[in-house]
Amino acid sequence: MTATVPVSAPITQDVLTFPRKLPDGPINLIGLTRDGLREALIAAGTAEKQAKMRTGQVWQWLYQKGIRDFARMTNLSKDYRAMLAATFVAEVPEVVTKQVSADGTRKYLVRIAGGHEVEVVYIPTVDRGTLCISSQVGCTLTCSFCHTGTQKLVRNLTAGEIIGQVMLARDDLDEWTAPGEGSDAKPRLVSNIVLMGMGEPLYNFDNVRDAMKIAMDPEGISLSRRRITLSTSGVVPEIAKTATEIGCMLAVSFHATTDAVRDGLVPINKKWPIADLLDALRAYPKASNSERITFEYVMLKDVNDSDEDARRLVQLIKGIPAKINLIPFNEWPGAPYERSDWARIEAFADIIYKAGYASPIRTPRGEDIMAACGQLKSTTERQRKPRKQIEAEAGL
Ligand code: SAH
Ligand code: SF4
Repeated sequence: MTATVPVSAPITQDVLTFPRKLPDGPINLIGLTRDGLREALIAAGTAEKQAKMRTGQVWQWLYQKGIRDFARMTNLSKDYRAMLAATFVAEVPEVVTKQVSADGTRKYLVRIAGGHEVEVVYIPTVDRGTLCISSQVGCTLTCSFCHTGTQKLVRNLTAGEIIGQVMLARDDLDEWTAPGEGSDAKPRLVSNIVLMGMGEPLYNFDNVRDAMKIAMDPEGISLSRRRITLSTSGVVPEIAKTATEIGCMLAVSFHATTDAVRDGLVPINKKWPIADLLDALRAYPKASNSERITFEYVMLKDVNDSDEDARRLVQLIKGIPAKINLIPFNEWPGAPYERSDWARIEAFADIIYKAGYASPIRTPRGEDIMAACGQLKSTTERQRKPRKQIEAEAGL
């Protein structure tokens, strides 16, 4: 497989970020950082010396108890609640449909401002519940095996829309702390968050960071940074910020062991090829044996799944504290690839395992409702790119 686009081809990130404040609408408090919330309350007339306390009170209602109706924030005076209701809203995206798979996976189609839609997936397992959230509507990056990549990017999500996905799942799962209850009174249903839904999170960094800071805040949703994983296709200059500004875990969509193949699968490789990506990962500030970088590797029949690929993979990542997550390709209508056979996936996993790396094979979940990795695509922009264009971009 050879690339048809020259290596220097620019990959542009030409997207709109929706303004937080709609021209004629009130400010949405959901998604503001603590400082942002404080400033908003002061701008609305809260006295400076009360601002810290008010911020803490409102924050706890929103993010610990999941109460977004100002009238129910009962430790605030009636007048203050009325002021909040007259000045602000506290809104999360609206759930349009919820589908539940035979295996318990839940997929929510949610609508955000402007009428656009994104998908959110909840995957319960025996010991955890993982919520897979989106960072953009669609994606600019056209990876040839990814359904989202066939959807034109519409826009970046705001921080409120990103943390809003976590909040609406907690609503649906009835996971909020009831007034008077301790925050550890119930088992955690959303115990992990993965930024592995639609979009490239490092191309919407500030909003992703602000939203994840809210998820980690100890006076709210209070998830440990180690239970949040950001997956990137390899936006090399932004990678280190995942550690320094968010502190969460990192996963990288590696998927190939030569530039020729990776150019065809993950087009961003033409801008930042494997060597550059590996340099960034070797320099990654937080990597250690207890905080390994996850290398995601989609198993595509006869494309990247040979024994030779497995051996090259372990050579390439030598010295990086890593685990390798093998993802059997999830098909979608019109996809130009097939899933590798199970025997092939197991043989590949075995080589990696013998080289000393954990090599779990990700069990496809929610396939019957098109909720598995890489199957997400909203109706916002149903128009598919023509197959020919996908293939040309993939260098097929
Ligand atoms: N944009 C980010 C995160 C979203 S994708 C990224 O690319 O990393 C989450 C993971 O699913 C990525 O590793 C992605 O490469 C993988 N993926 C995409 N399409 C897939 C498919 N059809 N089958 C299996 N995995 C897929
Ligand atoms: Fe975008 Fe990730 Fe899909 Fe590539 S794999 S098109 S980066 S969402």
